[in-house]
Amino acid sequence: MHAAVVADGLCKRYGDTVAVDGVSLAIDEGEVFGLIGPNGAGKTTLVRCLTGTTSYDGTASVFGADPKAAERSRIGLLPQSFSPPERLTARELVDYYAGLYDDARETDAVLRDVGLETDADTWYEKLSGGQQRRACVGITLVNDPDVLFLDEPTTGIDPTGRRGLWRVIEELAAEGTTVFLTSHSMDEVERLSDRVALLADGQIVASGSPAELVGQHGGDPRLVIQTEEGAEALARSGYNVEEGAGEVTLHGINASDIHEAVEALSDAGVEYESFTWTEPTLEEVYLELTGRRFGSERSQRGVVAEDGSAPGTLDPDGGQR
Ligand code: ADP
Repeated sequence: MHAAVVADGLCKRYGDTVAVDGVSLAIDEGEVFGLIGPNGAGKTTLVRCLTGTTSYDGTASVFGADPKAAERSRIGLLPQSFSPPERLTARELVDYYAGLYDDARETDAVLRDVGLETDADTWYEKLSGGQQRRACVGITLVNDPDVLFLDEPTTGIDPTGRRGLWRVIEELAAEGTTVFLTSHSMDEVERLSDRVALLADGQIVASGSPAELVGQHGGDPRLVIQTEEGAEALARSGYNVEEGAGEVTLHGINASDIHEAVEALSDAGVEYESFTWTEPTLEEVYLELTGRRFGSERSQRGVVAEDGSAPGTLDPDGGQR
């Protein structure tokens, strides 16, 4: 396995701002690598360094070459803000960009890759947000790149549009394209990436597969019960209990243990308002490693009231993995 993209001690300053602060990484060919961090963490700057669109200190390479000297036809780049002409159809856009290469792919094949066959003749401005972004991904595919840099491809796109883009990325990955994906959506990188790097203030604070990161830094699955009582009784029953204001947390509760824990509550006569089962996700990893809560996305998998109703929304993917 060869490295497609390598950075070693990469730094980028803008005046007094250190946007990228000593980043080292190696992305294997065929890997989907997800770079996650909040706004201002340095994601776009890192992409710009690795695609040869800005200068930097340290070293970087793409397929063994300096990013500025790398073979352009092997690289696809979807910048975060990219606005193609609105009064061209998806087909015309792909055709136009294909015209920039001697050896471009067939437009129909590209449109198929991004699922725009049936909307190929619709003006860009009339496409939905998700379709527009897929058209932009299509533009990056005209040169049949070996590595694709996607800078926040789904930011601002509605949930249906996001899922459509995810399918496109999954299919590209399945065909062996190396993908460098940036995002500030934890569920997105967790779903799509073989490996993830968490970026904070220009530094990678951890990297590994989502499962490795969650296993090492994410804590345990737990049941949080909204109640004023029951901590002692549950501790006597052998549970690992933490008492907080208006809630009791049982640590180490897997999905299959929830039923038993709820029975233990009833047996002890504990009254509670509702309970929430949470399994660790990359959000907890980020919080653990940076001390900062990440975004607004919920890590909790379900909230159930004592009467069995579910006032909270369940995770759209079904809650349990
Ligand atoms: P992200 O993509 O994670 O939102 P950026 O790479 O855009 O982060 O920005 C990282 C830091 O660098 C931020 O503090 C941002 O304000 C700064 N920055 C980015 N681009 C420039 C620029 N062209 N000039 C000055 N500062 C910049």
